[in-house]
Amino acid sequence: MSDQAQTKSEPLNIASVGVIGAGQMGSGIVHVCALAGLDVALSDVKEEQLEKALAKIAGNMDRQIASGKIAAADKDAALKRIRTASDYSIFGDCDAVIESAVEIESVKREILKALCPVLKPEAIICSNTSSISITRLAAVTDRPERFMGMHFMNPVPLMKLVELIRGIATDEPTFKAIRALAVKLDKTTATAEDFPAFIVNRILLPMINEAVYTLYEGVGSVESIDVAMKLGANHPMGPLELADFIGLDTCLAVMHVLYEGLADTKYRPCPLLVKYVEAGWLGRKAGRGFYDYSGDKPVPTR
Ligand code: NAD
Repeated sequence: MSDQAQTKSEPLNIASVGVIGAGQMGSGIVHVCALAGLDVALSDVKEEQLEKALAKIAGNMDRQIASGKIAAADKDAALKRIRTASDYSIFGDCDAVIESAVEIESVKREILKALCPVLKPEAIICSNTSSISITRLAAVTDRPERFMGMHFMNPVPLMKLVELIRGIATDEPTFKAIRALAVKLDKTTATAEDFPAFIVNRILLPMINEAVYTLYEGVGSVESIDVAMKLGANHPMGPLELADFIGLDTCLAVMHVLYEGLADTKYRPCPLLVKYVEAGWLGRKAGRGFYDYSGDKPVPTR
């Protein structure tokens, strides 16, 4: 490689980040980016999601102030760095944009197609997808070499891991720039190949799906399954509690990707999980899933 080519392929220093999707994950990503001193642009199709996200970020920062993790001045400075809009016009000056909308491939494809024309040419695009092929998503963009998976864990401000996934075309400067961004956000990275659900969800979601089968077949109640796995396997949360936390729509979407992508019946989604999603009982974010969250304490629904 010539010297000139080497200079040209220096990783981009990311100072401004865009986030698409102001849900559980998008708001967490904005939170950590703004606290790390980055300028952040956040967009969602639903105006009320933007308002909810800003309120949630402020509330979570207040908790960090109360526990001495950040100063009040850090919160004020971070909130000033966040701008929101319900379209993509605010992403024009972003060095990187992280797509974190619903786990539906057709929605993500439409977002990526609409996003590319507003970006500067050198901007990197990442997806926070839990399971969908990075190579396939990259293919709908005008820059597959500057596209990769940046998979955060929930809740983003507390969880240390970011899974990094290269698509087949991802170039090295892009990978290095995004790894440096993860380090700047005080995260530890693990690299996964681009196969369905990568590492964490390839292992975690079949366990959650099996817990739902265990409930479906009447082997145990919601409470006994969660207590059994907390005290019997030393898991900090029971699998059904965790499923509610992730969102049952996301859990089901990941199981579909595993089932279709690996063509193995061991990944078939439990019919009870399907039924909960059809009912709109999506877990914590909907106020009801395997637990009912309307009172002071979560109450098992079975
Ligand atoms: P969520 O349901 O809380 O939020 C999704 C957001 O996307 C909503 O605010 C919705 O209005 C918005 N949206 C839908 N269509 C849009 C569009 N066309 N343009 C812009 N915004 C749009 O979901 P979430 O839990 O935040 O998950 C988001 C992504 O993060 C998914 O890809 C999911 O797989 C991934 N993820 C989730 C978790 C988890 O534990 N929940 C963990 C890691 C990664």
